Amino acid sequence: MALLEVENLTTTFRIGVGRVQAVRGISFHVDEGEFLGIVGESGSGKSVTMLSVMNLLPDYATIKADAIRFNGVEMTKLRGKELRAMHGKEISMIFQDPMTSLNPLFTVEQQLIEPLKIHLGMKKAEARAKALELLRQVEIPAPEERLKQYPHELSGGMRQRVMIAMAVACNPKMIIADEPTTALDVTIQAQILELLEGLKRNSGASVVMITHDLGVIASMCSRIIVMYGGTICEEGSARDIFYAPRHPYTWGLLNSVPKISTGEHKKLVPIPGTPPDMLKPPAGCPFAPRCRYCMRVCTTVAPPLLQCGEGHRAACHLMHPNAPKIQREDA
Ligand code: SF4
Repeated sequence: MALLEVENLTTTFRIGVGRVQAVRGISFHVDEGEFLGIVGESGSGKSVTMLSVMNLLPDYATIKADAIRFNGVEMTKLRGKELRAMHGKEISMIFQDPMTSLNPLFTVEQQLIEPLKIHLGMKKAEARAKALELLRQVEIPAPEERLKQYPHELSGGMRQRVMIAMAVACNPKMIIADEPTTALDVTIQAQILELLEGLKRNSGASVVMITHDLGVIASMCSRIIVMYGGTICEEGSARDIFYAPRHPYTWGLLNSVPKISTGEHKKLVPIPGTPPDMLKPPAGCPFAPRCRYCMRVCTTVAPPLLQCGEGHRAACHLMHPNAPKIQREDA
């Protein structure tokens, strides 16, 4: 059953030289208890999509949607107090760089007990005990001492664990993790991903993992949405995306991920070119300037998302019955 339903979401940013069309009319859903991955390069619109859902964008952003329904509640109608009540309690977010998300002026304890007091109405002693329990849950060593520390006194991995503890503090129904491991060492990345997976399993919450790295989510996500140029170019189960991808951009992403488990020594193939200028996105397929299979129609007509299997959709003119039959190269 869908926990979050987003219909026709468009987000633009007004800047000095025009309007950045960051998200362009996308629709998707997040099911209860699922682990969804949103993948794409920087500037593809993946983070802006979820920040739009949370209504956490600055004033110069304009968010339009036919519907953003969370657990049956229309989020676009929520303002001020109602929206704040939703944040942290129902939906929480883990950001890429905990150093800029944690408040440097407050101790870990102060930052952890705040949402517990506000959202769950706990008294200070009860909130402190819960904060301690949360630090143990995210496997922080010597939690009593950590409570008294400030963010700058913790390592990067530990700060991210504190962020995760804050995110799960009020048992939210959905956790959005925005590149939670990008700023961390590889060994710590693996620990944080394992921790997130464990917390999801135990709490039953839905997790939306935003990442530019398909490799990071390979073993974790049940479903994946691939974004490019502010649009969804492919979505499907992890099996569809990894074993039967239909969009040339997804092929490119997969070809740029090392395949260690197969024992093959294949050269990584980067995707040529750069992402589109979202001030003036291409008229047709946003991937056309970088696509080796680009046809004339691709430069003028935006391909719709077409069904290519149960729950598997891709937006590419190659899926038209009359299009040339292309075999994925480098597979
Ligand atoms: Fe390439 Fe055309 Fe498909 Fe876009 S629609 S991905 S340009 S083949």
